[in-house]
Amino acid sequence: MAYVSKRGATISGIEPRTGETHMAKLIAGNWKMNGSVESSRALAGGLAEKVKATPGLADVAICPPGPLMRDVLTAVAGSPIGVGGQDCHWNEAGAHTGDTSAALLADIGCAYAIVGHSERRADHGETSEQVKAKAEAVLSAGLVAIVCVGETEAERDTGQTETVVGRQIDGSLPDGGTPKTVVIAYEPVWAIGTGRTPSLEEIAAVHAFIRARAQESYDLGEGLRLLYGGSVKPGNAAEILAVEGVDGALVGGASLTVEDFWGIIESCP
Ligand code: PEP
Repeated sequence: MAYVSKRGATISGIEPRTGETHMAKLIAGNWKMNGSVESSRALAGGLAEKVKATPGLADVAICPPGPLMRDVLTAVAGSPIGVGGQDCHWNEAGAHTGDTSAALLADIGCAYAIVGHSERRADHGETSEQVKAKAEAVLSAGLVAIVCVGETEAERDTGQTETVVGRQIDGSLPDGGTPKTVVIAYEPVWAIGTGRTPSLEEIAAVHAFIRARAQESYDLGEGLRLLYGGSVKPGNAAEILAVEGVDGALVGGASLTVEDFWGIIESCP
């Protein structure tokens, strides 16, 4: 099924939200472990001004480090920008030093939480089973879970992309998720922060595979928002965001300046 975006482009395979004629793309910024109180206020505030002045190009989310959350929430107040955590624990509370619960993210005013980012899977040994438990905690807290999947370069080079990504989809998606509460981000690990990206055909093929797999395993297919992530910048955003089945982007490095992140938002068809 195809819908016409606010800019007149035809977007296929995306269900509109109730009362709307299209589903906007989601552009989510993952700041990772970057920024300071001062820079986060300037970045989030500058972005909020842009989004308020030119609304409706895309749904926009930013995921700052935890200690900057309050400043960012204050800076974007009154704008439609959603704020998200970069991770959460699967328990609601308890003896988990250094962790943050999805319930607390919700309490502070977040709308999203990223789970299963490849840096967490690699640096903290997170398994798909744990990612699934985290995603279920995100849903229980009433937030939208952005579940990340993606293959390493060695896995791609040995033809294992679909096997690996399929396994991550089967293992990481939360039970009880819906296209409104779960977003999947396809992030080839070798494309993150490297300036390299798959070809547009490769992105389209993996997105089609993920959508079919999410439908088969979780009944999350047609209306699912499926983001691409990995070295998206203003210079390549328009062509990536125009690929069939790409419903937005998860952006790391290029979400750290207003100019670059806004350039990506403006590239939405
Ligand atoms: C990410 O880490 O989610 C990401 C996509 O990073 P970058 O845009 O810097 O490749």
